[in-house]
Amino acid sequence: MKVNARGLTLDELTNHIIALGEKPYRARQVYHWITAKAAQSFDEMTDLPKGLRAKLSEVFSLELPEVIEIQTAQDGTTKFALLLKDGEVIEMVLIPERDHFTLCVSSQVGCSMGCKFCLTARSGFKRNLETWEIISQVVLAKRWLKERGESLPLRNIVFMGMGEPLANYTNLVQSLKILADHEGFNFSRKRLTVSTAGIVPKIWALAKDFPTALAVSLHSADQSLRDYLMPGVKQYPLSDLRESIKAFPRIKNGRTTIEYILLKDINDGEEHAEKLYRFLKGLKVKVNLIPFNPHPELPFKRPEPERVEAFQRYLLNRGILTTVRKSKGLEISAACGQLRRRVLSPNSFQAVSAEGASSICV
Ligand code: SAH
Repeated sequence: MKVNARGLTLDELTNHIIALGEKPYRARQVYHWITAKAAQSFDEMTDLPKGLRAKLSEVFSLELPEVIEIQTAQDGTTKFALLLKDGEVIEMVLIPERDHFTLCVSSQVGCSMGCKFCLTARSGFKRNLETWEIISQVVLAKRWLKERGESLPLRNIVFMGMGEPLANYTNLVQSLKILADHEGFNFSRKRLTVSTAGIVPKIWALAKDFPTALAVSLHSADQSLRDYLMPGVKQYPLSDLRESIKAFPRIKNGRTTIEYILLKDINDGEEHAEKLYRFLKGLKVKVNLIPFNPHPELPFKRPEPERVEAFQRYLLNRGILTTVRKSKGLEISAACGQLRRRVLSPNSFQAVSAEGASSICV
């Protein structure tokens, strides 16, 4: 079977290419093509001899998932549905900002965390994404921007799509290494954000193995409310989570982002803000409040703007940097927590319902 070269670091690619009897600098050329230049095939690599291109294409695959659907919202946010080889469909979201683009990538097919407010959770967990499937999302986004002649760069990658990145730890770290490599994609580590529901041992591991920007989905600083909302992480107590956040290395003096969904009458009151403040005091963080993105299948409501503002003010008045996330792409279900797993069926795209998750799988 061919190796998909997109899942390899430069060192690994070099070893493969040396084993083929070629010079190491060839690996650097290929690597640059498949990362920074987002090449789709060896034919595009015009500075490589034809014979070598043919040889490489017998050993390596550069296959990408197939883009089967593109939807653009009024605000320019674009959601892509990508078909994987096993018939599963994942989603990624490209978000235009003032001077750059941000890409929100998926790390798993579905998710096993079971967060009560998240649509991805409802369709269950299928499998981890391979490294090349994670990297392919970046390649596809870069190609799309290039084709459209976009002048703004793709600068930020956030692991905030489908799945829990720290539950796919090995492939996550391999992907981060590839994305940050100066000879390749060359993303600044500060602009690679790993968002986690709070798998504490893996936060410690990431701190040691390959620290990037960190975002923690907290949603409540009350242990029992958090256990209810986020059952997948209830074995990691808030006090341990706090320790891991405190110790996490800060790239260029950055702050850890604390994501906090505001759910009407559940976690949006002053008493909740107070608990949150006590949890955050002494941590180098910024809070990102996310007014809940509603969906008919989910039992929660979005609080009124005044309540969101009061929550924000409570924290600001106590010196906690707090912003409110303006949800983008809401009308195309591209906003936080709205990505869901689908399986391609012969005639149509089918949403995988929570009940039918395994029965529709191909
Ligand atoms: N599993 C990781 C990555 C997903 S990030 C994590 O939990 O951080 C997606 C972000 O959107 C998380 O902060 C998640 O809690 C939030 N989210 C999920 N459902 C949402 C919804 N319906 N409205 C607003 N935010 C939501």
